[in-house]
Amino acid sequence: ICEQIEDPKQAKGIVRREVVETITPGASFADDMLDRARNNFLCAIFPSGDLVGIAAADLSTGEFRLVISLAGDTEAVLSRLAPREILVARSVEPAFKLTDQSRDEGALVTEREAWEFDPALASSDIARHFGVASVEGLGLGDADLPALGAAGALMRYMHELQPGGVPHLARPVVERPGGTMPLDEMTRRNLELTESLRGGDTGGTLSSVLDRTLTPMGSRLLHQWILTPLTNVEAINARLDSVELFAGDPIAREAVRESLDGVRDVERLASKAAAGRGTPRDLRALGDSISQLPQVHAALETLVEKHSPGFGPLSTLMTKWDGCADMATDIIDTIVERPPLAMGDESCIRDGIDSSLDEWRSLRDGGKDAIARIQMDERARTGINSLKVGYNRVFGYFIEITNSNSHLVPTDYQRRQTLTGAERYVTPALKKYEEKVLTAAERIEERERELFDALRKRIGAHVRRLQCISQIAAELDVLSTLADVAEREGYVRPQVTEGFDLEITAGRHPVVERMMAREKFIPNDVRLPEDARMIILTGPNMSGKSTILRQIGLIVLMAQIGSFVPAAVARIGVVDRLFTRVGASDNLVRGQSTFMVEMSETSAILHTATSKSLVLLDEIGRGTSTYDGVSIAWSVSEYLHDQIKCKTVFATHYHELTQLTDELVAACNYSVEVKEAGDRVLFLHRLVPGGADRSYGIEVGRLAGLPVAVLDRARKLLAVFEGEQIVSALDKGRRAGIRDPGERAPGAVKTSHKEQLGLFSQTHPIVDELKQIDPDTMTPLEALTLVNRLVSHARQG
Ligand code: ATP
Repeated sequence: ICEQIEDPKQAKGIVRREVVETITPGASFADDMLDRARNNFLCAIFPSGDLVGIAAADLSTGEFRLVISLAGDTEAVLSRLAPREILVARSVEPAFKLTDQSRDEGALVTEREAWEFDPALASSDIARHFGVASVEGLGLGDADLPALGAAGALMRYMHELQPGGVPHLARPVVERPGGTMPLDEMTRRNLELTESLRGGDTGGTLSSVLDRTLTPMGSRLLHQWILTPLTNVEAINARLDSVELFAGDPIAREAVRESLDGVRDVERLASKAAAGRGTPRDLRALGDSISQLPQVHAALETLVEKHSPGFGPLSTLMTKWDGCADMATDIIDTIVERPPLAMGDESCIRDGIDSSLDEWRSLRDGGKDAIARIQMDERARTGINSLKVGYNRVFGYFIEITNSNSHLVPTDYQRRQTLTGAERYVTPALKKYEEKVLTAAERIEERERELFDALRKRIGAHVRRLQCISQIAAELDVLSTLADVAEREGYVRPQVTEGFDLEITAGRHPVVERMMAREKFIPNDVRLPEDARMIILTGPNMSGKSTILRQIGLIVLMAQIGSFVPAAVARIGVVDRLFTRVGASDNLVRGQSTFMVEMSETSAILHTATSKSLVLLDEIGRGTSTYDGVSIAWSVSEYLHDQIKCKTVFATHYHELTQLTDELVAACNYSVEVKEAGDRVLFLHRLVPGGADRSYGIEVGRLAGLPVAVLDRARKLLAVFEGEQIVSALDKGRRAGIRDPGERAPGAVKTSHKEQLGLFSQTHPIVDELKQIDPDTMTPLEALTLVNRLVSHARQG
């Protein structure tokens, strides 16, 4: 942004212009570049050994976060913050290579000089900025050096873009490893937390169900909470306590929410004021919003006094309360009720605030009275009753005296114009008055601007207090929203424990249940105790496997953000990581095939999951040939069960995997029930113990409207393939048995037995025939004849 920096009236020659501000995606105050429900983060990244420091600042709200994460979690942190711009150190051999993922998500990557990331230099810059002797005063220590390096580069860049500096940057909030659950991109996407899988919109996401917040800061905070579940049981329960308090008293909750309704974006408005921006309308909105806060406080006080006087997280919020009433009064007393959008259009400062402004205004508005007064005075002084004061564009104000009275004209009158029957004069007093009136409008605008700037400066100086109250309002908004949603949707408080077990009774999918008529959604129970920590979930297409899988993930995540959950009862052993790999997706832009994406994601899970993690896998190994796929799926399951020992749900169409439960002690089979009614399938969506043996894929094809000819042909082919599969299964089973009876062999030994045979409702005629034969009583000739017949039968198809 380039502006004239001199007054054009006073400038000699060309008016000087300078670059006054640089706007980048990560550094913008413009409302049309910002999303009210999202932060607009500018991030800097600084790797240091096994750790990575990430500094994130939202210029529009003043939020400032320092995140120290394990190197492997960097993408997850970036994915959560969704920065619009990322600063990295320029170097020949980059120590940290930003993967394509962050670039794909639309962040502008800006390279800066490597020295700007120096932690020592950064520490003194930051201490100076926040007016503390050393960064220890901000609660930062040696362990936070990587984040300080990033913060240093970030602040230097911001100062470069904003010549006025960033006075509104709040004290940094520090996030160290642990305490929160890093959510990688695939999990965030697959669970459709804040963006739907189909595109960037929020329809059909968890956020769309939960976000009934009333304020923009509340909406942004909820978004942050959803993407940063907690892992500390105490912290989770503190949030749940507050939600429970709100949930248990609908009247008090409504009072708090009613008073929050209409509170505008205090955080962004305050930041604008501090940065010397913000229109009169913005400032008045800020004042009106703050003046609503006492009602919020009173409503909260009633709730707390009634239920938990003196303790609990809501009481803590109250002790931190500073309603900034002085600022509300200052703004409301100074700015008119409906100020114009920009200065100068209409008046924005109230009457009675400033005597010179009032004087200019009365001069401007009371012009006629003043003229009448001057005319009266001059008539009295000269004794000329026909004396008139008038105005014209060329000569301005004048006193007109007819020729018959010219002998009475005082000496201080100066002649300006001669008419046929009269002369026109001016006096020094009249000239002074004229100047005053003509400049009144200009002076009013100037004075209004001065007063407005001073007010904006006064308010901006208190930006920290405003940020603080705005955060409290945001938290109250989110907590009461979660209680509100819990009541509307019939959620219950989960019991979150340090233990391992996960037990959900009558759990529902919070988003899918909303898409159907009430009571239509079939609730399901899921148990994952330590000795049955792996569920192999089979079931036909469309039965609801993915829904159950996601529902488990969402319930755990909701519990760990402090929300009630869609279930009758939920006992949740807190998880440190949640992984959700669902279906096949390719990323051709990043040069990865479908199967490569699948394997990379699986690999990431196997490398990062711990025994406290929850791993939800939907279809591993589908993107390659059947035997490769089954083998990978089989060994991945073994590894999760034997090595990692985490809670796992594995949904699959590979029915061979149901045999895993024979080998893996803590694995069990579940399937989603369907009912066959004639040649139709009824989806019951009910989870039952035991494996499934059919996929009913053709039935789903019929529902999807495949042409009848295609369906008929598919049915015939299925019968043929199933026949072949039996023969090959029998064959392989025999070979596997001979080679090493003790080895776990997927799709071989067991597949040949009851379970696999049960797969086919129409058995092959050859099999039927074989079943009738008793080889022990056959002569060699009879055997030869039989083989001949079978062979010719097989050749005929
Ligand atoms: P596929 O194997 O083909 O991927 P799936 O078994 O994973 O299928 P889902 O995608 O989970 O099946 O579910 C299919 C549809 O069934 C859902 O879109 C939903 O409309 C419905 N559904 C799933 N679970 C339930 C339930 N518990 N109650 C009611 N409807 C359900």
